[in-house]
Amino acid sequence: MKSLINNFPNEVRSDLSSLIDNGGVLRAEKCEHICQLLSISIENLMVKLLPLAASYSKSELSSYKVGAVAQGIDTKGNGISDLYFGANLEFSSLYNSLHAEQAAVSNAWLDGQKGIRSIAVSGAPCGHCRQFLKEVAGNNDLQIILPADSASEIFLPGENPEDNVATIDLSKLLPAAFGPLDLGCEQLMMEATEEGHQLELTRQSDSYLVLQALLAANRSYAPYSSNYAGCALEMKTGEIFCGQYAENAAHNPSLSPYSSALSKMILSMPEFDYDDIARLVLVESPTMVSQKSITTTLLLACNKDVELEYFAADVKS
Ligand SMILES: [Zn+2]
Repeated sequence: MKSLINNFPNEVRSDLSSLIDNGGVLRAEKCEHICQLLSISIENLMVKLLPLAASYSKSELSSYKVGAVAQGIDTKGNGISDLYFGANLEFSSLYNSLHAEQAAVSNAWLDGQKGIRSIAVSGAPCGHCRQFLKEVAGNNDLQIILPADSASEIFLPGENPEDNVATIDLSKLLPAAFGPLDLGCEQLMMEATEEGHQLELTRQSDSYLVLQALLAANRSYAPYSSNYAGCALEMKTGEIFCGQYAENAAHNPSLSPYSSALSKMILSMPEFDYDDIARLVLVESPTMVSQKSITTTLLLACNKDVELEYFAADVKS
């Protein structure tokens, strides 16, 4: 990551270094500063950052590194919002892989963003990710940004050909889409209210880690099963990373709470080792759906010495 930052002009390296200490988040004021110094658009900056995002990829199976950079919708008035990194994360079972676009959206959601305005990706989003993005707040106007030299002709070139940017609306990449409205769901992922789902643990705990997992479960998005779920991961060094469950109308592109937490950990600790995981807590409201077995399986694939701490919760009556 540091060597990739050194590929940028000297005057922007300190702004970019904040990405390392800030879990793959580049604040709007730093984005604006970099764009001014380099005289480039935010879209161009997002494309230039893709190799940095891809450097977080854990793709032992495919050796195919994907980076994504998402821009949130919350702005402080200057039109530019915070940027969020994501990279693909592979497990020993293919269908549990986390895609870079999912990781970037999860990063933004965990930071409190209420939607996504645009997302840059190293290559055209796969069908799984197009469907995942269809569930995200802001999807109606969501712009996909690609490096121009890897975009097909259906992408529109940027205003300045030197920008090496090509864009297209998600709606054009996923026409006649199936989405939340088809299942009668009007609230989108990232739109959850501050008060959350009013979950209450069925077994009391005053552990800080458990309460963090409860908070994540309260912020989760589970309109199709009501299986609100969140997890909290503690490292041996004491850092804590949370993950929020997000369902998808097409089911399979749903985001598991453990993948969400693990991805945030990887973005925050590039030198991590799976053996550095000390504890993992899952809090959920189990219904016909439960995250318990998949979380146990995924944890086992990463670290055989840690046992999942499981807490059920009910919605307060
Ligand atoms: Zn994908």
